[in-house]
Amino acid sequence: MQLEGKTAFVTGGSRGIGAAIAVRLAAEGADIALTYVAGADAAAGIVGRIEALGRKAFAFQADSADARSVRTAVDAAAAALGKLDVVVHNAGVFSAGPIEEITAEEIDRVLAIHVRAVLVGTQAALPHMPDGGRIISIGSNLADRVARPGLTLYSASKAALDGLTRGLARDLGSRGITAVLVQPGSTDTDMNPASSPHADDQRALSALGHYGAAEDIAATVAHLAGPGGRHISGTTITIDGGQNA
Ligand code: NDP
Repeated sequence: MQLEGKTAFVTGGSRGIGAAIAVRLAAEGADIALTYVAGADAAAGIVGRIEALGRKAFAFQADSADARSVRTAVDAAAAALGKLDVVVHNAGVFSAGPIEEITAEEIDRVLAIHVRAVLVGTQAALPHMPDGGRIISIGSNLADRVARPGLTLYSASKAALDGLTRGLARDLGSRGITAVLVQPGSTDTDMNPASSPHADDQRALSALGHYGAAEDIAATVAHLAGPGGRHISGTTITIDGGQNA
């Protein structure tokens, strides 16, 4: 178990990719704190799965759109776990529509969840993070290739994580803390079900011809969080079955 004695904080860990990451890191030996915004029952279910693995788990309600809420959740997680070795910024929302119709409120909300929360959450986590820690952000392959109209805001918000990750790598490298951006492609979750009417178009873009599973993303995050991630920093790993190839 490569994460024995480690702790991890995962935002949006109640469902989908974040839940798979939380469970996988726990299976590798880490104690876990996760956040959710509305899904208290789902979060309790993931806490139960992690406890069944013999690890500690805590769930905190925190809206990533609210900076104060993010800081409070990080501090609560650190108090519960004692330290934060691994921080996974995963919470996200899909946003799509004609460029002419995007409101300023929607722009603020999406940027707050996808960008500001990552910065603020990292700032709050740093005093609790030992040297050699890991900061892993979940972006999207749509940051690199926008395959259809209507995705300007979502793609822009995820593209911001590229510069953010490179900057963090430089800011924190002297402490042995790494920063990596993980970019999923179409992954079967509530956000993007493999059974939706839009799924065949996404499959057609993929070199492998099928959706990824949340566990595919979790496997790479586990590698980055473990000893194998020690020298991977300031870079991006895209896990999209070749959609952007
Ligand atoms: P889901 O919609 O399946 O799950 C989203 C998770 O984030 C839930 O745990 C949800 O909590 C939480 N969440 C949503 N909004 C907030 C918020 N404001 N504050 C705190 N938590 C929040 O999404 P996925 O698992 O598919 O997506 C996870 C990440 O992966 C996102 O960043 C997404 O953009 C990215 N991604 C997903 C792809 C896909 O095809 N699925 C492709 C590329 C990137 P709750 O249960 O309380 O609602």
